Amino acid sequence: MFRNIKGQAGVLQILATALDHDRVAQAYLFHGIDGVGKFTTALYFGMALNCLAKSEFRPCGVCTSCRKFLALDHPDLIYIFPSSKLELSEEGEIKKSEQRQEYDAFIRNKIETPWVDYLFSSKVMIRRESIDWMIRRLNLSIYEANYRICIIENAELMNQESSNAFLRTLEESSVSTVIILLTERLSQLLPTIVSRCQPIYFHPVAPPVISDILVQKFNASPESARTASHIANGSVKRAIRLAQSDSSQLRDLAFQIFQMAAGDKELAFFASLRSPALKLTAEMVIELIKYVSLFVGDLNLVQAAPEQVVNIDKREYLLEQRKALPAAQAENCADQALNFTLAMEDLARKVYGNVNLQLVMLNLYLQLSKIFRG
Ligand SMILES: [Zn+2]
Repeated sequence: MFRNIKGQAGVLQILATALDHDRVAQAYLFHGIDGVGKFTTALYFGMALNCLAKSEFRPCGVCTSCRKFLALDHPDLIYIFPSSKLELSEEGEIKKSEQRQEYDAFIRNKIETPWVDYLFSSKVMIRRESIDWMIRRLNLSIYEANYRICIIENAELMNQESSNAFLRTLEESSVSTVIILLTERLSQLLPTIVSRCQPIYFHPVAPPVISDILVQKFNASPESARTASHIANGSVKRAIRLAQSDSSQLRDLAFQIFQMAAGDKELAFFASLRSPALKLTAEMVIELIKYVSLFVGDLNLVQAAPEQVVNIDKREYLLEQRKALPAAQAENCADQALNFTLAMEDLARKVYGNVNLQLVMLNLYLQLSKIFRG
């Protein structure tokens, strides 16, 4: 089943070697951006350590042990994640039905549609109550597994109190327990925790790998898979959401802006900005910036390297525009595209800094126009 994890060959090699030589660390720290396979890898690793199949098939995904892991329901799997307050009993039961429902909904989402971020109704963190419950479980003997597996997701969301309690556990944990911490923000963990774990870095996933996943597993069209994979910054999770969401509308909007700039339709652009139907949010503007940047990148490549074009469905239009560029613009197209990309990265940073979004859009349009008319 490790083959289901794409784009992390280095990580899988390290873990396979540990399994083959029976040299498993007591604590691992999987770090890397969101949506690159940290949780799945942790779960499969725990499964492999407990799988009932022959060693070369582990984890098999079908034995009773594997199935319990896949359902996140193995008695020796301790899964801790940021949640709202659960008010756990001594036995780890959630007393109130509302909290119980939220917890169950989170688990269901994690199994069925893990690329969707489940939102709790109140602020989430890894609470002392969860860590205390984990400690009580670790003090009991193992039920049925070879190794007890403890996965702590978004470990950076442990507060000071939880971190200190957890640190003591880490120092005292037994050889038959494997603790796997997952984090996007290594620097926010206590150095004393980091130094007690074997760190394993998960790279951002390459666009062609993401694109294949989207086409093969999510029935995305090659066009939307290709653009989503380039916009997602290496996160499979983000790419799936992009391919499934209405972000194709944002891409259409980006294309319209590109067309307006190419056709020198400044007034039409201003009108579209003032349209009451257009309610821009910072996230939308960032995504628009990325889509427009991809179109500009393609404009540069479409003549010399058409196979590298991301927006393959717009290739002919882009080729027409490329051929129609005035000689001076055509000559400097590569430089212009690069300058545009840099200007857009700068602009995207400003969006996070709370500037007026209309001004950002205006700036985007003016920069874009320069490509066509200098
Ligand atoms: Zn199995």
